[in-house]
Order: sequence, then structure tokens, then C-alpha cells
Amino acid sequence: MGRSALRRKENQHFTEDLTQVSQAPGADGYRSDGWETVIGLEVHAQISTKSKLFSGSPTDFGSDPNSQVSFYDAAMPGTLPVLNTAAIDLAIKTGLSINGTINKISRFDRKNYFYPDLPAGYQISQLYFPIVTNGYIDIDLPNGPSTKRINIERIHIEQDAGKSIHDLSPESSYIDLNRSGIPLMEIVSRPDMRSSDEAMQYVKKLRTILRYIETCDCNMERGNLRVDANISIRRPGEPFGNRVEIKNINSIRFLGQALNYEAERQIMARESGEEIIQETRLFDAGTGETRPMRTKENSDDYRYFPDPDLRPVILTDERIAKIMGGLPELPDAKRARFIMEYGLPESDAAILTEDMVTARYFEKAVSASKFKESPRLIANWITGELFAFLNKSGKNIDELAFPIEYIGELVDLILNKTISGNIAKSVFARMVESNENPLKIVTDQGLTQIRDDSIIKKVVEEVIAKNPNQVDEYKSGKQQLFGFFVGQCMKALQGKGNPEIINEILRKALG
Ligand code: ADP
Ligand code: MG
Repeated sequence: MGRSALRRKENQHFTEDLTQVSQAPGADGYRSDGWETVIGLEVHAQISTKSKLFSGSPTDFGSDPNSQVSFYDAAMPGTLPVLNTAAIDLAIKTGLSINGTINKISRFDRKNYFYPDLPAGYQISQLYFPIVTNGYIDIDLPNGPSTKRINIERIHIEQDAGKSIHDLSPESSYIDLNRSGIPLMEIVSRPDMRSSDEAMQYVKKLRTILRYIETCDCNMERGNLRVDANISIRRPGEPFGNRVEIKNINSIRFLGQALNYEAERQIMARESGEEIIQETRLFDAGTGETRPMRTKENSDDYRYFPDPDLRPVILTDERIAKIMGGLPELPDAKRARFIMEYGLPESDAAILTEDMVTARYFEKAVSASKFKESPRLIANWITGELFAFLNKSGKNIDELAFPIEYIGELVDLILNKTISGNIAKSVFARMVESNENPLKIVTDQGLTQIRDDSIIKKVVEEVIAKNPNQVDEYKSGKQQLFGFFVGQCMKALQGKGNPEIINEILRKALG
């Protein structure tokens, strides 16, 4: 296999389609060139609280620069942190949802470093005693229904830093401290992923879970979910190689691109006899390349020590149990239930449970139907016609101007033989335009299926009379002409004839 990613770099055209990013290893998990990539991710998720981790300042997005900064956020001497307990509860909820151990004692440490957007000279984080350890999530593998378990080493809580702005004027740099002190969860995976596809699936699954439990909105464009990707390469069976950390990736597609580029770069280096040095790199979305930022650092450099202004976080069993009791049905459980309860195929169940709103809408549509066999059909209509309409109109499912129950009603009109599946498509097209209910559309437009034998018989006779040549050919053995006759009858009945009755009467008439 060639070093295609590097060769392509001159003229890279990245598309939105994630499958284009994909560079999956073979079925055995290994690349055809004999190298294995090893990936571990550190995901920074903004905890959805109204106020900051240690101050009462709001966390709203898009406010004027420095309009959400308390004296504490600006590190004025003499100010003290006050822990936001809501952030702790949301981190616990997250820990429970990723099958983690909730540690009843955790503690905050100071990570010391200088940066203009960090006025205190340190970030408060949890190095030694994180609030959550040893979780996991199961991800879908790209080809087929199998899943893979990705272990999560820890979740710790920390503060976000402010933002330096260099591109407003050529003479000056600016600092916006609105983000300073916003609560983050850092979710650290074990180095369990073996391809960029697995890494992308992992972030997608994590995002689905966080959105279900509403502990992070996962808006990547706003920086509410950011990924640091660690990657190394080795020959299968060898110990792990030195890793490179790619910082601050803010889209799943970029994550895939950055990892593919970096894997190719490391392989090229190793194959030409170079060592990989542990370093931090940045991904440039414009060129699709990573470039060096700084070399190896370790925790000694930060002079971590327990924050003397904060007491340890001590949790009671009752508090954890209460949060556990408030968890919603999680994505894997919902997916399994959709398969069991509604008989959905795996793939439909996966799509419909990817976000909670879609799942809820599906169940609402099902509840509007009177037929036991409707859920599979409703799933088809939602993932097919409805998703196509939403894509085209740029809407979310909860922005529909008609109630989702109409999908259930439409399917019932098919199942009770009022209309055919084909007519249903035109009823659907009308429904998304006019927002009228399906039965009204069918009644107003006279679309009810024609099942009256005498009407259909008359049409069949006319079609036979009008096409003597085809009748002769059919009778002399050209069986495939039967479809032609059905088509002619359907046309004469403006698409409204019941296909089974047409078939039956035609067969008799043609002998
Ligand atoms: P540190 O303590 O230096 O931050 P960690 O052991 O916490 O290092 O690892 C940080 C992240 O890097 C984790 O997500 C982990 O899975 C990942 N990682 C560690 N070693 C490797 C490796 N050799 N290759 C790829 N990823 C790695
Ligand atoms: Mg680490």
C-alpha cells in the first residue's frame, strides 16, 4: 500500500461524507501494510451548567467579550472558588452512563503554567483523584452489526481557559475571559482504538450518550466538545510506540482526517528509519496536515499540587443513587428495546435511537397507528421519505409543521387498504406541503383505492379490447406481457386500483 494520504496532500478535496475520510483496516483489524495504529482520545466536554465551575458567572454562548467574568474568573487576589454542585452531579450522571466507577472522594489539583488567557497562572483540574474511573462504551464497527468495547480510563472535572484573539488587528492581541472557568469534563479513553473509523465512531457514540443524558450539548462548532487525539503506530504484537497528541480537534470529520494524515506520516518516518518523538501537534483543516506545536511534556512540568482553597469532593451513596434513578433509558437499551418491542431491523433501530428526539417521534407515530404490524413500516417512512424531506428542507424532526402522528395515520391508510403504497407517496408529498392530515388529503383528492370488482372488470375489458396484438402474443406464451396489462389498467384507474384485484381479474380475463 502506498502513502496515499501524503501524496494526495497537494490537492486535497475533503467532502462532508465521513465514508470518504475512512481508511479502514481489513477485517482482521490490521492494515494491509502490516502497521497497526493505536489511538486513545481525550474528549473535553463542556458540562451544561448555567454558571461556571467556581463562580456565579453565566456560561451563555455568544455574549460580548468579557461580559461574563467575575473577579474570581479574572483571578483577582483575595477571591476564592465556590464549587458548583450542579457540575458535580452532571459529571456523576455521565460517569454512570459510561458504566464507570463513581469515586466517593475526589479532589482538585492546580496545574501550573503561564499563558495570557490563564490569569491565575494555573488551571484547576483533578489529576490524582478523578471523580470517575474505569468505564467503557460499546461502539458500532463500520462493517456490520458487531460492536467493540472501548475502555474509558477516567473522567475528571476541570476549568476551561479564556481565549486569545490575534486576528482582529495586526497590532494587537485581545483576551476574552468569558470561557475562563467554564466547567469541563475530560473523558480519557484507553488506547483501545485501532483505526480512524473506530475513533470517529467512539466520538459519535459518546456524543449520543451525552446528549441523551443532557450533561453536554456537544455543539462542536461552538467548542463545547473538543478532542485531543493520541496516536502511535506499531507492528502488531510489539509494545506501544511513542505517541503524538493532536490537540483541539473540533469536528468528527477533522478527527478522521488528522488521524489518517498522522498515521501515514508516522509510517513513512518509521519506514525510512526515523524514530517517532513524543510531541504535541496541531491539525490544520485548510491543508489537512498536522504540524508540530511542542515536544514532550510530563506532569512534573506542571508542578501539580492539591488546591488549598478547595475541599475534597465527598459523595454519599444516596446522592449517587438519586442520580442513577434519574437516568433516562440509554441509547443501547433503547436500541435493544426497539428491536424487541417493535421488531425493527438492527439498522433501523440504530438510526432511530441515534438521538432521543427522533426516537421519541418514532414512538409517537407508532402510538397513532391501530395496526400491530405498523412499526416496521413507520420506521421505513421515517428513515426514508421523512429523512429525505428533512434533509432537503434543512429542518430538524422537531421542526415539522405537522404532528408526527400523521405518519402513523398514513401507514394505517395503507394497511387498511384505503390507498396503495404508491399513492401514499403522493399523499406524503402533499402532506409535507400543506400539513393536512393524510385522510383529509385522500378524501379531498379522491385517492381512495378502487376495489369495486365491476369497475375494475370494465377497465380490464377495455384494456384487452384496445391491445389485441399484445393479447395474441401473451396467449402464445409471452408471459412477461402480464405486467404491461397491469400497468395499462392501473393507468386507466389513475393509479388508484387495488393491485391484487386487478391481477386476479386480468388473469381470469386473459385465460
Ligand atoms: P499522560 O498521563 O501523559 O496524559 P495518559 O497515559 O494519560 O498520558 O494517556 C493520555 C491519552 O493517550 C489516553 O487517551 C491514552 O489512551 C492515550 N495513549 C497513551 N499511550 C498511547 C499510545 N502509545 N498510543 C496512542 N495513544 C496512547
Ligand atoms: Mg493524561
